[in-house]
Amino acid sequence: MNLIEHFVNGKLNKGTSKRTGKVFNPATGSQNSEVKLANKHDVDNAVSVAKKAFITWSQKTPLYRARVLFKFKELIEKNSDLLTKIIVSEHGKVYEDAKGSLTRGLEVVEFACGIPQLLKGEFTENVGTDVDSWSMRQPLGVCAGITPFNFPAMVPMWMFPVAIACGNTFVLKPSEKDPSCSIKLAELFTEAGLPEGVFNVVNGDKESVDAIISNKDISAVSFVGSTPIAKYIYENCSKNEKRVQALGGAKNHCVIMPDCDLDQAVNGLIGAAYGSAGERCMAQSVAVAVGNIAEPLVKKLSEKVKSLKIGPGLDKDSEMGPLVTKEHLEKVLNYVEIGIKEGAKLVVDGRKVNISKNQKGFFMGGCLFDKVEKNMRIYKEEIFGPVLSIVRVKDYNEALALVNDHEFGNGASIFTRDGDTGRSFASNAKIGMIGINIPIPVPMAFHSFGGWKRSLFGDQHIHGPEGVRFYTKLKTITSRWPSGIKSDAEFVMPTMK
Ligand code: NAD
Repeated sequence: MNLIEHFVNGKLNKGTSKRTGKVFNPATGSQNSEVKLANKHDVDNAVSVAKKAFITWSQKTPLYRARVLFKFKELIEKNSDLLTKIIVSEHGKVYEDAKGSLTRGLEVVEFACGIPQLLKGEFTENVGTDVDSWSMRQPLGVCAGITPFNFPAMVPMWMFPVAIACGNTFVLKPSEKDPSCSIKLAELFTEAGLPEGVFNVVNGDKESVDAIISNKDISAVSFVGSTPIAKYIYENCSKNEKRVQALGGAKNHCVIMPDCDLDQAVNGLIGAAYGSAGERCMAQSVAVAVGNIAEPLVKKLSEKVKSLKIGPGLDKDSEMGPLVTKEHLEKVLNYVEIGIKEGAKLVVDGRKVNISKNQKGFFMGGCLFDKVEKNMRIYKEEIFGPVLSIVRVKDYNEALALVNDHEFGNGASIFTRDGDTGRSFASNAKIGMIGINIPIPVPMAFHSFGGWKRSLFGDQHIHGPEGVRFYTKLKTITSRWPSGIKSDAEFVMPTMK
């Protein structure tokens, strides 16, 4: 059985914990590997290595750090097929989708290559007579990242390239369901010339997360995962005086206005709801049908959902792969049962699907519910599977209220041809990321990513300019040289003249 170890101080590391977890190939249902689950000692060891590495790494020039990132970028490109296959083999998503997610991670590396420009501070000559003032951003120290299963390359890459470019060192705790990609990225970063100890990967579960929370040498924690765990991380890291950003779950609404281009909206919705088997934090899981668009929308959607090509991620024809684990598949199937019991109309029932060679894989088909109501659990809760709910409303205001009343605020989209409606939605939706005729409005690497309400705990969004702010602290210097005006002792608050 393949054993997935940790990566500490520039090399693979077995750690001291005897505990392991199982990693599956979701397409076959068979166990691929065993992954080491770190204990507190293993985490503390990685943090002390990162703390030591910070002393020299933080002193390297931004240009030096950028050059290592450039090499890392080249190595990711060279190894993109291998990295993509690793993602497919442990997560299950289809090859092209996995490759796309790797590219979105690579774009963060490209953004971080610009760190000499991004770290430039501000300078004011003569804030007072012969007194100058400037500000600069300095790294925090050891930063940690805790990431979910659904983007094993992209989400870790939202974090560590920016943190490391800023001069920090990093300990990543990836999802124990698909950890191999992080280990490969760490190996490539080392091959690119990253000094030992700057980027470390510790595999594990709650025990290792709790060790991160309690470690006094970690200055900042970035978390991406479900809302209950995000809240737990936010509260406990804050209590332990760490800077923290904790991105949580989502229930993204797509408002379909009666004036929209319906074919464009349906194509957008199909990809956004069923791509990656709905296991995306930016998946559209609620279609809000406004006015008389509902009937044609349901008709067109159901035809497309029925014809989804479901199969292993490495099959060229597959549009949708399996779910990540058997437990997750069962959880999603249970939500479908709940929806039926709650009285929603299951227009397309994808609970049973026949994948000829892969009977034991964690597959299900696309499910489509119509006439979903606000008080139903399938509307309120995140399902994180290929299940789209249609809620019918009478007008735009009712649609907007629905979006704004939901506890989550990650992404939302509107399909319309009316500029006023699109602009009103962008302005008034209480949501972090908005799409106008764009089904999945994921910001590019040079913007920042993050939700509102219970989709993000903390003040800063991730990557882009907010990422640089999160991984640095601001210092402002005011200086005068002796040749300037000599002054006597002053006992009043200095004001500049
Ligand atoms: P999860 O919350 O179960 O796990 C995320 C991380 O937390 C993992 O590393 C896991 O090991 C750790 N963890 C799990 N249980 C824990 C516990 N009790 N105590 C401490 N740590 C624990 O999430 P997941 O199932 O891996 O990923 C899916 C979730 O992530 C969905 O809710 C999805 O919306 C969310 N997500 C959000 C974003 C975003 O940007 N907002 C992006 C991707 C995924």
